[in-house]
Amino acid sequence: MVKETKFYDLLGVSPNASETEIKKGYRKQALKYHPDKNPSEEAAEKFKECSAAYEVLSDSQKREVYDQYGEEGLNGGGAGGFPGGGFGFGDDIFSQFFGGAGAQRPSGPQRGRDIKHEIQNTLEELYKGRTAKLALNKQILCKTCEGRGGKAGAVKKCTSCNGQGIKFVTRQMGPMIQRFQTECDVCHGSGDIIDPKDRCKDCKGKKIANERKVLEVHVEPGMREGQKIVFKGEADQAPDVIPGDVIFVVVEKPHKHFKRAGDDLLYEAEIDLLTAIAGGEFAIQHVSGDWLKVSTVPGEVISSGMKKVIEGKGMPVPKYGGYGNLIVTFKIKFPENNFATEDKLKELENILPARTPVSIPAKASIDECVLSDFDPTKYSKSKGRSGRSYDSDEEEQHGEGVQCASQ
Ligand SMILES: [Zn+2]
Ligand SMILES: [Zn+2]
Repeated sequence: MVKETKFYDLLGVSPNASETEIKKGYRKQALKYHPDKNPSEEAAEKFKECSAAYEVLSDSQKREVYDQYGEEGLNGGGAGGFPGGGFGFGDDIFSQFFGGAGAQRPSGPQRGRDIKHEIQNTLEELYKGRTAKLALNKQILCKTCEGRGGKAGAVKKCTSCNGQGIKFVTRQMGPMIQRFQTECDVCHGSGDIIDPKDRCKDCKGKKIANERKVLEVHVEPGMREGQKIVFKGEADQAPDVIPGDVIFVVVEKPHKHFKRAGDDLLYEAEIDLLTAIAGGEFAIQHVSGDWLKVSTVPGEVISSGMKKVIEGKGMPVPKYGGYGNLIVTFKIKFPENNFATEDKLKELENILPARTPVSIPAKASIDECVLSDFDPTKYSKSKGRSGRSYDSDEEEQHGEGVQCASQ
């Protein structure tokens, strides 16, 4: 097999060049062709090619594959994969070399996947903060063989596949020659050869084991929905892989009485009419576990839908300290029908402001109406259904539930 030398040629070095010579060669070419120094399109193309060549030749593993199989061998993808053609990340190499900006693409070992979990909390738990112990089943490097798969020194790189775990096979299919990638039959895709007697007994050469690990998740007081608690590098371990993170995402369970608006809490308080107009007290069971006894000032009238604030009784504010506010919306509970005799009701006229007089222009024709009970099932969406009686369109303004008798 004729050895391919294109990459060496691009850097102007011999196929036997040392690492230093390759580095020097690339530096020379990069300075010559970098778009900053040479704006021509030709130079840009050349710069990309040189960078791709250096990317391969500066990595002893990739260089070996290249020496053995040429550029095509790299395209087939070994550990970490090699982007199609291998061109297109020239700037990264350049910036590693000479410093300076450029998109930082992580190079070196692959990073494993992150593991994400939700952690459900009641509002009470988010108020006080808590420590949850959560068990995680994860994959770790075998402790017996330290992830080698066997005794130290007994694990050899598979020579059949050059440690790649895959092989390229060419097959004649009629007039065509097909070349495809297949798992190495010697090492069964592991890339290693271990004498069975030296193989790790615990992991049977697989290099990995399972472990149940308990993580203590600290939910800080005042944490919000969607916040993340990160355990760096605690995700699955695998040979030649940087483990990802275990990430817990805070979820807030809905509360029966409180709603949350950032650091503030929202609460609907129902008070009776007497308290609303003559002052009194009401109580709130707070998410802190305490009860709040709230007084309304005599003389102040509280109407339905009115909002008031109890300062400092919201959620704790993480980092900055202190607390948000508690915003109370009032709902007034009116007395039942016939709660007082007619004589007693007359007394109200001495206390409450006088009735607003009815004002109808003197010459207007007047319909006398009475109120019936409103049954929402009879008055669903569609207009003009039974249960409504209109004499004319104009009378629609009287609204639903008011029946009028024409005079
Ligand atoms: Zn082992
Ligand atoms: Zn192999």
